[in-house]
Amino acid sequence: MRLFDTRTGDTRELIAGHTVRLYVCGITPYDATHLGHANTYVAFDLLNRAWRNAGHVVTYVQNVTDVDDPLLERAERDSDDWVVLGMRETALFREDMESLRVLPPRHYIGAVEAMDEITELVGKLLASGAAYRADDPEHPDVYFDHTATADFGYVSRYSTAEMERIFPERGGDPDRRGKRHPLDALLWRTAREGEPSWPSDLGDGRPGWHVECTAIALNRLGEAFDLQGGGSDLAFPHHEFGSAHGEALTGLHPMARHYCHAGMIGLDGEKMSKSKGNLVFVSRLRADRVDSMAVRLALLSGHWRTDRSWTAELLTTGQARLHRWREAVALGATPDPTELVEKVRLHLADDLDSPGALAAVDAWADEALRRPSATVPDGGSRAADAVDALLGVALR
Ligand code: ZN
Repeated sequence: MRLFDTRTGDTRELIAGHTVRLYVCGITPYDATHLGHANTYVAFDLLNRAWRNAGHVVTYVQNVTDVDDPLLERAERDSDDWVVLGMRETALFREDMESLRVLPPRHYIGAVEAMDEITELVGKLLASGAAYRADDPEHPDVYFDHTATADFGYVSRYSTAEMERIFPERGGDPDRRGKRHPLDALLWRTAREGEPSWPSDLGDGRPGWHVECTAIALNRLGEAFDLQGGGSDLAFPHHEFGSAHGEALTGLHPMARHYCHAGMIGLDGEKMSKSKGNLVFVSRLRADRVDSMAVRLALLSGHWRTDRSWTAELLTTGQARLHRWREAVALGATPDPTELVEKVRLHLADDLDSPGALAAVDAWADEALRRPSATVPDGGSRAADAVDALLGVALR
């Protein structure tokens, strides 16, 4: 399996043992799943499927950030209970993923249920000197000193200037008084009036986001696990700090051997964002009775790392393709799909080249629909099984 690694900036072999250890960052459940999320989870689902198909056992871990500022702010705005909101959106996310045939992770862990693990890790970082208390007697929150590890910035490969520019846009608090450096990231927020908090040796409070993933990943996958993935907006600060926390704890870097980041999905050429109000939700498409397999095919028609745009035409093309593939499978007797299966495997092993894999199935379906003389009686069902296993698209 060759995969592009953000950290090294090249496409290189990921040599997996019998068991592959995969961590993909989960959602913060304050809103429904949009197509940007779906693209990320479908991309790593392809990887999961390719490994499983090659005989590996995949230990797949994902978190759900079921307590954090965006969730609390949304609950406040809508006069909702943050616990109920989180449970409702998590359930909807899982339904969306099931409809898109994304295989569930083996361990799906909430921040709240991992609270003891997180506070233990923060305690160790404090004891080692990598973390410190903000100089603020009222709220002595715990921060990670980003200079605690030698070459901070190695995951995203952003310059200090880029990190400083992006940090406040993605949840960072450079102006928080009492920090040693503007770039330092929150590990433990001491209790505030009206906010949920948990008792711990650190004092009552709640965790920062990055350390949640570090604790959940290391405790289930161990050091130097195979891959950490997410959308490209997670490279910094989330994965950068996650790896730095892990390094400060274990002395080893990087925390994951491969860092992979899926591209962003825009709408009709514009960035899809909450503020623009142009999010396309998977659940909305489902409510409109759009076949989720066509949605999956529309996402797979672009390369996983490429930023791209969702358009009505993309979905129409996905629907037409799905229809054609199903027609071919329904013939029963089709050209022998053995070569097709091998081609799809090779495309996926080449940095998850889904457009190439789709083109191979297109060619097979076109040939089948021309009704050639050389066919095998079970060709359709064998092709459908392979497309199901490798691409996650149900054709029957
Ligand atoms: Zn994460």
